[in-house]
Amino acid sequence: MKTKEMILGGALLVLLVCLGVLFWVGQVEEDVVEIDEMVVEIETPDSFLSPLYFTVIVHTEEDMSNCRGKKANIPDYDGDEALLLHFTNAMREFGQIARSHGVKVNFGTDWTFSRGVASFDPTFYQDFEAMGHEIDAHAHESCYKYAEVQDEIIAAGGAPTSVASGMSEEIVYDEMSYFDKLYPDFTILWGVASPGHGEGEEMTGWVWRPSRDDWFKHDSDGRYIHIGHGAYTNSVEDTVNAIENRKENAINTYSVFLAPRELLAERGTEGIDEVWTTTKKDCAYWENKLEWWDEFFTELDEYAKRGELEYASLTDVSEVFIEKEKDLIFDQSDIPRSTDSMGSANKASGYCL
Ligand SMILES: [Zn+2]
Repeated sequence: MKTKEMILGGALLVLLVCLGVLFWVGQVEEDVVEIDEMVVEIETPDSFLSPLYFTVIVHTEEDMSNCRGKKANIPDYDGDEALLLHFTNAMREFGQIARSHGVKVNFGTDWTFSRGVASFDPTFYQDFEAMGHEIDAHAHESCYKYAEVQDEIIAAGGAPTSVASGMSEEIVYDEMSYFDKLYPDFTILWGVASPGHGEGEEMTGWVWRPSRDDWFKHDSDGRYIHIGHGAYTNSVEDTVNAIENRKENAINTYSVFLAPRELLAERGTEGIDEVWTTTKKDCAYWENKLEWWDEFFTELDEYAKRGELEYASLTDVSEVFIEKEKDLIFDQSDIPRSTDSMGSANKASGYCL
């Protein structure tokens, strides 16, 4: 009897232990389910690190102030055929070099260059666009507003993007209400700067939608997309620095800058005013300068191959931004500003100016 009771008692004990274990496992599984549900509820955006979106910006300026006096330091694009053709020829070559690396160029142009294109080289904009580059309105509005600058591009055969560039930090709120009336012609704002690119300019290297009362505050309902240019010096070192300092959950951006008037013709070229010429040995001679850009892109290609840098137009950048917007974190607490003018920073980095 005693042995029988002991066996029964033992079996009961084993059964109880088994039930206990099953109950405990069930509890643990329930806990896991609860934790999973909690994670879903918090909706933390997936963490990601974007490549550095790299864009080449070209700007041509109006050659008159308030539509009256001629500016000496700006080529007479719409009045001097030989000069316009020198610059469009050099820019076609530049466009091809960029294209051979997969680099995209945003060619921002004011009204006088467009008038020159319409008069003397009417396929220039179409040829440049066919290389995968973009044409957009760049203005300081001394006498023509952005909408008119855009009309001049269309009249010269171009298909302008929705990018506007060239406004200063002080007037950008007025511009936003002006653009409201033209919406959706302009939705992307680039290069909100200090006049003459002096020191203290904002140097943000990411994208957000500026709010109406605070440029640096992100407003998820904001109509305009602002693309920051970063330090925008034409240097491998600064580009690599921007790659290394990319922010998580942000669209990281960097632009470099070229003005066609930097590309000087050879001294003695017939029909070209001496001001826009130099010797073939000078780094500012247009072919030497294009060679420099070719080498610059060659160095960057290594980073592009590794996926740390991606060549993109401003329209491409805005599209990526819209696609990723729900996963972005807008940390606007630290707005970098330049400690030197754009020209001095470029010279200090070794760029030929
Ligand atoms: Zn400008």
